Amino acid sequence: MARKVFIAGNWKMNKTAAEAKALCEALKESLAPLAGKVEVAVCPTFTSLATAVEVLKGSNVKVGAQNIHWAENGAFTGEISGAMLKEIGVEYVIIGHSERRQYFGETDETVNKRMQAALANGLKPILCIGETLEEREGNKTEAVLEQQIKGAFADICECKMDQITIAYEPVWAIGTGKTATPEMAEETHAFIRKTIAALYNQEIADAMVIQYGGSMKPENAQALVAQADIDGGLIGGAALKADSFTALVTNAIA
Ligand code: PEP
Repeated sequence: MARKVFIAGNWKMNKTAAEAKALCEALKESLAPLAGKVEVAVCPTFTSLATAVEVLKGSNVKVGAQNIHWAENGAFTGEISGAMLKEIGVEYVIIGHSERRQYFGETDETVNKRMQAALANGLKPILCIGETLEEREGNKTEAVLEQQIKGAFADICECKMDQITIAYEPVWAIGTGKTATPEMAEETHAFIRKTIAALYNQEIADAMVIQYGGSMKPENAQALVAQADIDGGLIGGAALKADSFTALVTNAIA
């Protein structure tokens, strides 16, 4: 089954609104020739989301948030609800990034609640999963991923599965310059797809877009995305400049 390549840029805590505007303006132009050939999204900070939506309106670049709270509203200082994101035109939302699991106490349970909230508000989750170096070296990669997947997808309706993207991000490869080899990443992606097939069915697993994330750059994007089960990327560092992100997206579908 042909799955469309999907590349998303995770800007993390970078770019003021003015800087975000400039980067969106540059990407709107540089990525326009790739319209229809690839799905592209950028995920700025909350303070730049409205600006990004405004600048990218009518373009082939979509906008995503980096987090969402599960409640509709209430006493949750510092949090943002799905309705708030939806109202301003956000389409995607990154959920369960390893930095949120590591620094902000995110668990499989809260990841699941955020998934439910995103879907209930018509937002498309980009679910991040991945093992640490210690877990990989201890031969626990598959067990860790299976647990993260089962936790994240608990009570998620089969009917919503086409709204969800999985980003496999080995924690040891994020921002470190160490990329999983294409073969190593492919083996893990195939395992993730198999796990989704076991939880749901083969058809849903075959349609699921699974991105790779972890030091993906213009130089390695093509080899990674050429793998049978790697359908794109979630990009950190290389997404912060228009030229590197454009080159990466271009190479990924070359
Ligand atoms: C990320 O933060 O999701 C990521 C993959 O970062 P980097 O590309 O910088 O490794």
